[in-house]
Amino acid sequence: MKHVWAPWRMAYIQMKKVEGCVLCEAPKRDNDIENYILFRGKKNYVIMNSYPYNPGHLMVVPYRHIANLEELTDEERHEHIDIVSRSVTVLKRLFAPGGFNLGTNIGKVAGAGIDDHVHTHVVPRWQGDTNFMPVIGDVRVIPEALAETYQKLKGAF
Ligand SMILES: [Zn+2]
Repeated sequence: MKHVWAPWRMAYIQMKKVEGCVLCEAPKRDNDIENYILFRGKKNYVIMNSYPYNPGHLMVVPYRHIANLEELTDEERHEHIDIVSRSVTVLKRLFAPGGFNLGTNIGKVAGAGIDDHVHTHVVPRWQGDTNFMPVIGDVRVIPEALAETYQKLKGAF
């Protein structure tokens, strides 16, 4: 995934650490549109990554603040993978990507940006997508692109 061109990742890297856990806070807020929450299951929810590697980069997240997959209950874990699968189905239908990267980074050393709240990345891939994204020098255009993608995906879950 490292070679995907996503210059706004720099904004994420440079971002100051926010208070508390963003993955706990987002679903507590009462504004799913502003927080890019696409779907709420019983035990997990789906949120768009605000600093995507590709358009349609989603994350499946348990509501509970847990660092490891093995700490999830069976119900949480089963629903987690069900929703990952559902996310793939939705993205296939809407964006017809050529493939996907699905991944859970456990621990900072494995590249987890948020290492104390486990989550699974769903990243659609296109043939030649290292050149797929337009070269965008100004990260401020990204929220618009995110909002557009959000509107397309929101009704599809
Ligand atoms: Zn959390």
